[in-house]
Amino acid sequence: MPSASHPSLSSALASIEEQFDLSKIKLQGILDRFRERMVYGLQNHGAAMAMIPSYVTGTPDGSEKGVYLALDLGGTNLRVCEVTLGGEGKVSMKQEKYKVSDQLKTGPVENLFDYIAASVAKFLKDFSSAAPQNPQDGPLLMGFTFSFPVEQTAIDRGTLISWTKGFSCPGAVGLEVVQLLQGCLDRQHVPVRVNALVNDTVGALLAHAYHAKGALLGAIFGTGTNGAYVEAVERIGKMNAAHAHGEETMIINTEWGGFDDERAALLITLFDNTVDRTAIRPRHHAFEKMISGMYLGEVVRTVLIHLVDSLHLFQGFSSELLNKQYGFDTAYVSAVLADKKPSNSADSPTRLVLVDTLGIKAEHVAEGDVETVKAVCKIVGRRAARLSSVAIAATLQHTGHDQHRGGAELQESDYIDIGCDGSVYEFLPYFEEWVREALRDLVGEGAEKRVRMALAKDGSGVGAALCALQAKKQHDRMLA
Ligand code: BGC
Ligand code: MG
Repeated sequence: MPSASHPSLSSALASIEEQFDLSKIKLQGILDRFRERMVYGLQNHGAAMAMIPSYVTGTPDGSEKGVYLALDLGGTNLRVCEVTLGGEGKVSMKQEKYKVSDQLKTGPVENLFDYIAASVAKFLKDFSSAAPQNPQDGPLLMGFTFSFPVEQTAIDRGTLISWTKGFSCPGAVGLEVVQLLQGCLDRQHVPVRVNALVNDTVGALLAHAYHAKGALLGAIFGTGTNGAYVEAVERIGKMNAAHAHGEETMIINTEWGGFDDERAALLITLFDNTVDRTAIRPRHHAFEKMISGMYLGEVVRTVLIHLVDSLHLFQGFSSELLNKQYGFDTAYVSAVLADKKPSNSADSPTRLVLVDTLGIKAEHVAEGDVETVKAVCKIVGRRAARLSSVAIAATLQHTGHDQHRGGAELQESDYIDIGCDGSVYEFLPYFEEWVREALRDLVGEGAEKRVRMALAKDGSGVGAALCALQAKKQHDRMLA
């Protein structure tokens, strides 16, 4: 029963929808800015969308072979993997996950890296069949997927630019990440040499290229969001071309999560501002905060609280969890969007999330409330997908892959492969459908049809191993 001073539910919802709306024209404006910032970041150091050269100059073609370790930090878990590349795009893998506590994520960085090294040691002892038995066998090579912005200076060297996604160990920014890890491994006598430092997007690109015999873009829509693509070395104005050692292409880690931290083009709502100012790093990674799994649920929660406070939802009642920051997990957004049951059914998944998971009293959840929550999840999820399509469209246009190819039937060589990974890509219903709808708005149906998005099979594991192999190749070539 809204009071006279409040607009009706339908006009409140219409207003929210309008604030989140990204029409074709608005999206186009954001795309123009995105393309401009790609070029800017390639020319200038220190840009918010950093456009970082990865020093990876080649992508695999599936023929690669060997056993490499991979270490994956930066999503939900720490993972150690032993990857066997079998050639012909074949892979087998052993892996173990290790929990990273909030204490480790926010405490002294030495503790975090000691824990990582100890986890590698534990993995080698418990699971590895490739661990060297004798000291003279030499160390195993390991690719380290470190999914944070890093100013890379070589394929195995880089310094942390900033933490993201809830990590905040003090004193880590500016540190040489591989040296730090290698130091911890050496002190613990772990027979491993870290020879590649890899962003997860670069890993996704490499893993997908291995599998699909080539790819243009590796993209993560997970806890965070980011993409890496294959660039022509001559266009990377800020890098000394000698660092490419005569190769013509290099993978760029865009760090698109930081796109438009200047807030020049993004249409930021009041709800986004609330999410932003209460996040660990306000005014940082604005684009990511509108797209990725760490934040989507929080955006939804902020809108729901607004509707509760306007007495449009749950009769103005809430619950402890709904009142709590990050209390509405992005997994719930996925569950709500997947809900096909009528809103009045007692076992509607949305109702179960609201009552059983969030603890809102059943008598406060009317059929209309279930409808409202579904509508809010759709509004927030669809916006995330449309913004994601901007990053993809910009990459297509920037690399000249946005032309329509004639002929009704596409040939194999017409496809543009994009390897995707992350919980939003994998589990948010309609995500790819909404991305494609927006791509048609931005690059037209002809180009949209050529885009082949697929799950990059374990970019952070297989990709890191491929990067370790690539690093060895580049190193051997330099010595030759
Ligand atoms: C980080 C990127 C990473 C992305 C996806 C972002 O927060 O800045 O380096 O690729 O998350 O994991
Ligand atoms: Mg990951």
